[in-house]
Amino acid sequence: MKIYNTLTRKIEAFVPNEKGIVRMYTCGPTVYHYAHIGNLRSYITEDILEKTLEYIGYQVDRVMNITDVGHLSSDSDSGEDKMLKGAKREHKSVLDIAAFYTDAFKNDCNKLHIRIPEKLIPATSCIDEYIHIIERLLEKEYAYISGGNIYFDTSKLDDYYVLTNHKEDEMVVGVREGVEKDANKRNQADFVLWFTKSKFDDQELKWDSPWGYGYPGWHIECSGIGIKYLGEYMDIHCGGVDNIFPHHTNEIAQSESFLGHKWCNYWVHSEHLNDETGKMSKSKGDFLTLSVLEEKGYSPLVYRLFCLNSHYRKTLVFSYDILEQNKVVYEKLLRRVSSIQANLSGEFQATDFEKYCTLFKEALKNDLNTSNAITILFDVLKDEGLTNLTKLKLIGSFDSVLSLGLLDSAISKTVDAELEQHILKMIEKRREAKMNKDFMLADTIRANLLDEGIVLKDTREGTTYEIL
Ligand code: AMP
Ligand code: ZN
Repeated sequence: MKIYNTLTRKIEAFVPNEKGIVRMYTCGPTVYHYAHIGNLRSYITEDILEKTLEYIGYQVDRVMNITDVGHLSSDSDSGEDKMLKGAKREHKSVLDIAAFYTDAFKNDCNKLHIRIPEKLIPATSCIDEYIHIIERLLEKEYAYISGGNIYFDTSKLDDYYVLTNHKEDEMVVGVREGVEKDANKRNQADFVLWFTKSKFDDQELKWDSPWGYGYPGWHIECSGIGIKYLGEYMDIHCGGVDNIFPHHTNEIAQSESFLGHKWCNYWVHSEHLNDETGKMSKSKGDFLTLSVLEEKGYSPLVYRLFCLNSHYRKTLVFSYDILEQNKVVYEKLLRRVSSIQANLSGEFQATDFEKYCTLFKEALKNDLNTSNAITILFDVLKDEGLTNLTKLKLIGSFDSVLSLGLLDSAISKTVDAELEQHILKMIEKRREAKMNKDFMLADTIRANLLDEGIVLKDTREGTTYEIL
């Protein structure tokens, strides 16, 4: 398998630390609000990566955190705690907010066929681990106490900016818009490991620590959870590109200073989904969720297909037009699969099966080229030399990675019913147009349906249709 590694800025051959086993960590949601469809794009990429690794024979040990404490409004330790903000907004406790939005996140994952890692770990469950790591960092003098907080001293490292290609000037916290300088820091790039004092004294969740009653910084949670559940050596660490700095940069700094050796070999980042006005973000107030798409009549799996049709390292701009195109493709795909299921015949062609599985694997092994993998699926459907039985087995095999619900009869039935209603509505509209002598509109309706693969036939009994 070849994968782009942010750490080396190259596509590299993937070699895990232990033969056959992949230890994979993925940064999870901050559960103060619904996930937006941009967040969900990152989780779809990670899901495809995990399933691809399994498809090619690895066993994947995967961990995801749930951030329910410590993530301040700015990723650089300033502003109010996001969880507290959510609790105030909804007049609930932080724990209630965390429970509610964790469930909402799981719900979204289920709808998108994203497998939820068995090890889904709330940050608040590992406080002892963070305290232990921070104690060691203080002993080793990688950390210092200032103004009641514990900070990581980035000047102790030769290579603090290793993940960002040392573009220090662009990355330093002080020059980022809207970020206040913290007078307690020795260096502006230093970051908080443990707070006992912040400008927001009403922090709801606090714990005893050797340095007083307080709470952990955001970055330490992923180091603590990662090391606790995957051990000292990790193969792959994932997240969205906005996690590269400061979050993952800080994770590397503190984990490797604590462990005394390299921590993770491959850093895989999914590019953002933007809306027309720029990056999607939860703090923007009005943001696109999966439920909004559903309300507009788009199945979550159409959104999954939308994501898989582009490469995970390319910025995607969301538009309903492109989503609509994916809906048409998705429905076509389901119709073809159900007609194969309805006409199962022929022998199982083992050689052809292997040939197509290899092509499918090669596409995914090439830095997760999901759109090529989907093209191979269409090639299978079109291949007249394949029996329906072989096709069906290939579809099942591919869908163990793509997870588009291709063999789920409940999904195809809903799509069939929706499609039929849509066609009947168009036939009626065309009949009315003809009655009103608006032949241009009538022709447009016929042409539009043809674009969708639906042929209208005018008979004495009325208009019928055929799906290509
Ligand atoms: P958060 O819940 O804000 O901690 O983010 C959860 C995940 O979504 C992280 O991996 C982020 O890097 C990722 N993410 C945030 N915004 C976007 C976006 N617009 N497009 C894709 N991924 C994003
Ligand atoms: Zn993280």
